[in-house]
Amino acid sequence: MAVRGGIDLGGTKIQAIVVEEGTQPLGANRIPTPKQGGPPAVAEAIADALRAAALEAGMQPSDLAGVGVGSPGSIDNEAGTVTRALNVSPEWSGSFPLRDELRSRLDGAAIRLGNDVRVGTLAEVRLGAGRDRGSLIGVFWGTGVGSGVILDGKPWGGRGAAGEIGHMVVRLGGRTCTCGRQGCVEAYAGRKAMELRARKMVDHGSHTKLFEIMEERGREQLTSGIWARALEHEDKMATHLIDQAVAALAAGIASAVNLLDVEAVVIGGGLGTRLGEPYVERIRNEMQPHLFRDDRPPEVVGSALGDLGGALGAALLVG
Ligand SMILES: [Zn+2]
Repeated sequence: MAVRGGIDLGGTKIQAIVVEEGTQPLGANRIPTPKQGGPPAVAEAIADALRAAALEAGMQPSDLAGVGVGSPGSIDNEAGTVTRALNVSPEWSGSFPLRDELRSRLDGAAIRLGNDVRVGTLAEVRLGAGRDRGSLIGVFWGTGVGSGVILDGKPWGGRGAAGEIGHMVVRLGGRTCTCGRQGCVEAYAGRKAMELRARKMVDHGSHTKLFEIMEERGREQLTSGIWARALEHEDKMATHLIDQAVAALAAGIASAVNLLDVEAVVIGGGLGTRLGEPYVERIRNEMQPHLFRDDRPPEVVGSALGDLGGALGAALLVG
């Protein structure tokens, strides 16, 4: 394959890679997602990260066959826009011409846009834990909870919005979700929702090391690494909130499996990757009582591509 660029645009970080084939990048760069300046600042940061990754590979952006970008929000490939990427920037509520903005910053390189979780799932099917699977759900457990669905070997996008496993209802009248509805998986398992919950519990007098660890690390939000650290310290609040997250994820994923009867489920995303196999095993076990065909569960595995899956999948957008 030609040398391509891949960008994983997330709420916390921007991961850029330059890759030829397989899963080993020729160059890589990761920077925090800018919290100020809205979509233009994000476009500038993406271009910086990609230039740095290309430099590490001994190349210029213009040497690349193209650059794929996996982004949250609604993607319009014809218009080259990303709309409502609010997990990336609170100012990204409207439509932003990301393709053209990147092309002009990257010496005219060809830019392809894709949905972040769908490209992440594609990467797992082509290069990772889902290889040779005809049907699969890729679950991305991070700031939010998203999924990509592969049926008969092809991505299933529905009418453009398929895969919103984070907004499957696991508790009628339950906790308010970041989407404004109630009882969604993401209301319990999304890192953003979990942080809001933790802050509320602290306001009501509960104790936790979560925010101490955050300050020690000079962060402004609870990253996956901070959650993992608090769990290692057996922090009560973190353990409680993660237990609830696992239960909600397991119920939501099992319900999706009852509907689609896929061969495999791949668990990735910032938290899924950081917490790793022990938590994949917990999700697998907690799915079991919810499975209609409990004698024949799907294979539930951790992402094989980890942190780089999104960027590798984005690079696959460049044919
Ligand atoms: Zn929701």
